[in-house]
Amino acid sequence: MKALEKVKDLDLIQLIRDFGERGEKAWELLRENRVKRYTFKPSGRTVWIVVGREGDHLIYPAVGYCGCDDFYFSVMEGKALVCQHLIAQRLAERLGWFDTVEESDELFDVLMNDWRFLKIENASGKSSEVRTAVELKR
Ligand SMILES: [Zn+2]
Repeated sequence: MKALEKVKDLDLIQLIRDFGERGEKAWELLRENRVKRYTFKPSGRTVWIVVGREGDHLIYPAVGYCGCDDFYFSVMEGKALVCQHLIAQRLAERLGWFDTVEESDELFDVLMNDWRFLKIENASGKSSEVRTAVELKR
């Protein structure tokens, strides 16, 4: 497998040193092929999704945004620089190690609507959905 050869060049120890547990988890996500690049036809729009333990997470690599709880609670609060999904996406893109999914533009709004909602567990344990501020550039 070509991607595996490239991984040898990648300093995994450094990854874990830099990102700790998040680096390690990102590595697992990558190994389990949980990074997906959706391409919508015919527009050619692309969307990155990382399938996490709690569901699909929408990633905006250009702005360094992820729709997961860790991003919301740790990164946005300034407690962490990135979440595991953002690290995984970056590695995946660099190594060319991701699944490619093609969908028609007709499905774009439907899928985006699902992905754009961020599930938040509040103090009482009830979950509510909050629309994230980031919208995809059209
Ligand atoms: Zn994330």
